[in-house]
Amino acid sequence: MRPTIGVLALQGDVREHFHALAECGADPVNVRRESELAAVDGLVLPGGESTAISKLLEVFGLLEPLRQRLREGMPAFGSCAGMILLASEVLDTRPDAQSLSGIDMTVRRNAFGRQVDSFETDVDFTGLDDGPVRAVFIRAPWVERVGDGVQVLARVPSGPAEGRIVAVRQGNVMATSFHPEVTGDLRVHRMFVNSVLAPAER
Ligand code: GLN
Repeated sequence: MRPTIGVLALQGDVREHFHALAECGADPVNVRRESELAAVDGLVLPGGESTAISKLLEVFGLLEPLRQRLREGMPAFGSCAGMILLASEVLDTRPDAQSLSGIDMTVRRNAFGRQVDSFETDVDFTGLDDGPVRAVFIRAPWVERVGDGVQVLARVPSGPAEGRIVAVRQGNVMATSFHPEVTGDLRVHRMFVNSVLAPAER
């Protein structure tokens, strides 16, 4: 069975996720309106600019429908800006930015410093075999606090940000600070597609 997985297509790197999802055996579709959201089995929130996507979620009338589907247990995966949107609390964002509370966590936006535009490193990722994941960080957030039900999947292995949480999961919702969609390594997307096929009980 090929699950239908939406990619929130308001702004950001939509195409890369589309490609990765199709490679993993899903049918990707764009989500820009409520009827499209209602038709998907799971949703990817791409990287981009979280404050812009937040604004567009309001403009397109998607904010409440999306919160509702997350409350009902829809599987979701957010990378970078998508992680920021899925948080319950965001530090260093605009006061009017909205969050979706898909994961009980506090995320700091642009946490690695504004000067640190992008960098790459290998991270060990809980639940993935065959070695570490190449993590590409682009003006990335990190996670400063996680609630009780949240599993930490990856941390920065070394350097000034050593130990910072950069991948998490709570129930059927996953988030990474980095961009697995740009490396050609499909393991993170495959993990998400599997959780869409067999969502955890709530
Ligand atoms: N810094 C961006 C934001 O605040 C996220 C960057 C990204 O998604 N690559 O939304």
